[in-house]
Amino acid sequence: MTRTTLKSDASVQGVGLHTGLPCRAVFRPAAGPTGLRFLLPDGTGRLSPQSVPQALRAAGSSPIPALLENVASTARGTNLTLGGRTVHTVEHILACCAGLGIHDLDILMDGPEPPAADGSALPFAEAMLRAGVAEKPGQEISALPLTGTVELKDGEAFYRAEPAGGLFLSVLFDHPHPMLGRTEIALEIKPDTFLKEIAPARTFGLREELDGLKAAGLARGGTLENAMLVERDGILCSGGPRFADEPVRHKALDLLGDLALLGAPLLAAVRAGRTGHRNNVNFAKLLKSKLR
Ligand SMILES: [Zn+2]
Repeated sequence: MTRTTLKSDASVQGVGLHTGLPCRAVFRPAAGPTGLRFLLPDGTGRLSPQSVPQALRAAGSSPIPALLENVASTARGTNLTLGGRTVHTVEHILACCAGLGIHDLDILMDGPEPPAADGSALPFAEAMLRAGVAEKPGQEISALPLTGTVELKDGEAFYRAEPAGGLFLSVLFDHPHPMLGRTEIALEIKPDTFLKEIAPARTFGLREELDGLKAAGLARGGTLENAMLVERDGILCSGGPRFADEPVRHKALDLLGDLALLGAPLLAAVRAGRTGHRNNVNFAKLLKSKLR
């Protein structure tokens, strides 16, 4: 299939969910077949808005390809590290690229973590669609040649992929918390289903986990504007839930983003349950090992 990128720059600005640091992420069309990659200023960290152009120029020399081999950690998000620089929580942007069928994109950031936006992938997807998706005539990308069934089990978590004519995700979420319970979603990932069913689903956390997360240096930018807070007797979030089963949809979003680290479109029917970033990435690595 013909490779794609964006027609023009798009950008999103805000505060990172875990680091709490401000960041402007610019989605820039990529001329060559360079895949999805993050570009950060050297000595990444907090920059004033005035230094954004300078930071983005400096970023030109330091791409971090969004590939499995650059995954450094998966603590409540998928983090990439290369050459001493780390970009945190990449999965929602990557899910947008996978969901919208964007193969090549330079993601320039003046902070170490993309903006949390509203906790979902929708603001990124809308920004990308405003710019428009462009085909790159003469540049081809092949889907990954999955030829047999691939399975991973780790405790209660399970993953299974079979060859298919598109990317189909079936995700089970099963949580003992009374407000969460057992839900499942199954869909084919195409731009329209991604935008409607998956992209708007927001990240969530449990009230009882919050102190531990903050003590671990996570969720520092979390608010009810960018995350759903699951309490004993209800779910708090700005504007109320968008779906009755919003958490499982977000799990599908995260899985899609982590599978994008394969670096090419995956044609498979994937069924997964009790997923998390660590196992998502391990499953993607297992898939990759079976492709060779
Ligand atoms: Zn997520």
